[in-house]
Amino acid sequence: MKFCSACGAPITMLTPVGDHLPRAVCTVCQEIHYVNPKVVVGCVPEFEGRILLCRRAIEPRKGFWTMPAGFMENGETAREGARRETLEETQAVATIGELITMMSIPMMSQVHMMFRAQLQSDHHGATTESSEVRFFNEAEIPWGELAFPTVSHTLKHFFEDRERGVQALHMIDLGPVKF
Ligand SMILES: [Zn+2]
Repeated sequence: MKFCSACGAPITMLTPVGDHLPRAVCTVCQEIHYVNPKVVVGCVPEFEGRILLCRRAIEPRKGFWTMPAGFMENGETAREGARRETLEETQAVATIGELITMMSIPMMSQVHMMFRAQLQSDHHGATTESSEVRFFNEAEIPWGELAFPTVSHTLKHFFEDRERGVQALHMIDLGPVKF
């Protein structure tokens, strides 16, 4: 950030009185522009035992598989965001259930919340963000072609919990991403 979004004047980095970190502060109106982590929401959409995954049409990790997920918008709940992202990325209508994983990724200043979800029908299709959208049973999951560690952690816990007949919440702290 170089200019104040309130008045347009230049920004400087300084630690405000009583604060403990440098912040982007306006040199004219003194507005403090806080920058905080972003929340990513998504789900593992299930229909008759199979789950829906997307092949990414965009970088990063273009061509690799992921569950539908994306940044929360202002004014929506985490579940509403997961439902919206599923529709946008797979054309499928999901009923969002309980959390599978809540993952902190401090290196990227992100928190990811991934939910269980049921689809109302098997309707789905490719979108601008997903070059291919298809159902997988557990034995077909392309573990070596998943886009991110967040995807593999979430799918692993989803299938383990489903096998055990439980819906646990798994809190995970992720280090630097390695590909
Ligand atoms: Zn200003």
